[in-house]
Amino acid sequence: MSISDVNVPNDLDSLWMPFTDNRSFKKQPRLFSEAEGMFYITPEGRKVLDGTSGLWCVNAGHRRRPIIEAVRRQVEKLDYAPGFQVGHPLSFEFASRLTGMVEEYSHVMFTNSGSESVDTALKIALAYQRNIGEGSRTRFVGRERGYHGVGFGGISVGGISPNRKMFGNMLNGIDHLRHTHNLDKNAFVRGQPDWGEHLADDLESIVALHDATTIAAVIVEPVAGSTGVLVPPRGYLERLREICSKYGILLIFDEVITGFGRLGDSFANQYFDVKPDIFTTAKGITNATVPMGAVFVRDGIYNSFMESAPENAIEFFHGYTYSGHPLACAAGIATLEVYRDEDLFARAAQLAPYFESAIHSLCDCKNVIDVRNLGMMGAIELEPIPDKPTSRAMAAFQKAFDAGLLVRTTGDTIALSPPLIVEREQIDFISDTIRGVLKTVH
Ligand code: PLP
Repeated sequence: MSISDVNVPNDLDSLWMPFTDNRSFKKQPRLFSEAEGMFYITPEGRKVLDGTSGLWCVNAGHRRRPIIEAVRRQVEKLDYAPGFQVGHPLSFEFASRLTGMVEEYSHVMFTNSGSESVDTALKIALAYQRNIGEGSRTRFVGRERGYHGVGFGGISVGGISPNRKMFGNMLNGIDHLRHTHNLDKNAFVRGQPDWGEHLADDLESIVALHDATTIAAVIVEPVAGSTGVLVPPRGYLERLREICSKYGILLIFDEVITGFGRLGDSFANQYFDVKPDIFTTAKGITNATVPMGAVFVRDGIYNSFMESAPENAIEFFHGYTYSGHPLACAAGIATLEVYRDEDLFARAAQLAPYFESAIHSLCDCKNVIDVRNLGMMGAIELEPIPDKPTSRAMAAFQKAFDAGLLVRTTGDTIALSPPLIVEREQIDFISDTIRGVLKTVH
């Protein structure tokens, strides 16, 4: 038997599963052993439509031939090469293709995940400020309900209390903007809400409190994904950009979810036409076939490093054993080609209004207190059961799974982000299934 023949494991105990209620899962496991296009397939052979692109990452759908072939060819040729002081051609090629997708960003640094991209971005921001003679800028500003992965940097700027409370003091010198979610003002708004631009002025108050000369960078997700698709109010990101520029604070967008077509453009910074100084990516960069992330920096940031260190000195003491791994680069280049050849970002933009109508058709369902969306991201928020937060959404998740649909839940919100190859009938299946599920969830 080969490893890929292991369909149903004998032992569920040894694995400590991430972000999972291990005990419930192990009593009632949900396994996927194959995937194809829009579908996962369980060991029993049941098809489950992927309403979430895995974890917001399989943007081109599953098991795409060109990506598989590229990885296969690469592993036969060069399995691994270090990235420190030596290199391999594909990492340069891939970096060049990535910077070719965006005008103002001349360099990328590779990582292996979103969390690593975030920590890398924060470190670049600190070091850059020092390079330009602004070494007193050591504070970061994040936002409530932000998710920036699970490294100590990411949880410090992140704004999700269960992800923070067990882990001590984390980074010090962090402040948070208020989040922008407000059901009184913005419930059931389609796309960007009109109310809430002024929330960006929180940054002015933080500057007034600490003084701008102590703040290195602000980091936000352009659309907060993991806490339930919180769409930025009109003018909000623009205002943040303005305030950051006024005070010499770097603006970092965490585009780990919004990158690679999710909003119908390559990146959210293009969609909103708001340019951060640094932005992070991962997930869709390789269609999740091989783990990878990349941090994009605007023109000038890389040069500040080149100019601050003498020739023959390492300019930035940072990197991972697997930065720019050959298999990840092969997968990444092939992924970009699939996106381009199938015009998937434009497809996402075309499908977005249909997706919007489909999920907003659920606004009258039982217990639904909000529906929101942007691009191919959507959320249906349920009224929590008193004293049992998350349990209503978890019940919906299980029922949807049983009915052949994978959704994601966060708190009491059902989040959706189907692969960009989704067909209209499959969008109908998603909304019909959720409608049916919500009838039976108490
Ligand atoms: N940043 C954002 C915005 C994310 O959504 C995520 C993951 O969902 C991360 C960072 C962390 O990425 P990873 O799980 O690859 O470390």
